[in-house]
Amino acid sequence: MPDMKYRTILLFGAPGAGKGTQGKILGTIPHFYHCACGDVFRNLTIDNELGRTFLEYSSRGELVPDEPTVRLWRENILVNKQSGRFDPHQDTLVLDGIPRNPTQAEMLRDTLDVKGIFYFTCPDMEKLVERLQRRALRDNRLDDANLEVIRARLETYERDTKPVLDYYGSNLVRTIDATQSPVNVLREILRIIAKV
Ligand code: AMP
Repeated sequence: MPDMKYRTILLFGAPGAGKGTQGKILGTIPHFYHCACGDVFRNLTIDNELGRTFLEYSSRGELVPDEPTVRLWRENILVNKQSGRFDPHQDTLVLDGIPRNPTQAEMLRDTLDVKGIFYFTCPDMEKLVERLQRRALRDNRLDDANLEVIRARLETYERDTKPVLDYYGSNLVRTIDATQSPVNVLREILRIIAKV
């Protein structure tokens, strides 16, 4: 348990909605620290047991079990705190991909002080599928290479992840139209962040 809660902004939305793109940009701004849970998993190697578990679940479009996920995430944050990359006294944590269901939100209740949730909406499912397929080729991502897995990922999002919005309540949620160009999405996010 940390000695203080981390000031946090959540990037929320379906796979392919553009959270990673925006998160990377926000992470370059001083006093914002971006952490994508999927990247933490992808950095594990195959000789790591959790790395193998990750491959097993992600290749089916499913979530990795909560307990090892939250443990890995905590370890990763700790390493980055110790190395000085993340300074919780100065930085706002920009989280992408976690919490991924209400159980994880509850597990992180004493860790995160969630100040706002950017909810990336994209009503056009086919657009998400197309983006994921393009990314699969570009980034060599197995989980996005196959249409069946993409569909499973989108279903997992609807079923398991969306209820996280209710967990935190609508007061914190800022809806962003994710069908806009990345630069316009960024402009909208910055406009809101700059006000706080
Ligand atoms: P992402 O890059 O965020 O789409 O994550 C890729 C895959 O990693 C997901 O489909 C899950 O299998 C796994 N994953 C990432 N974050 C989480 C999480 N918070 N809880 C469980 N599984 C996760």
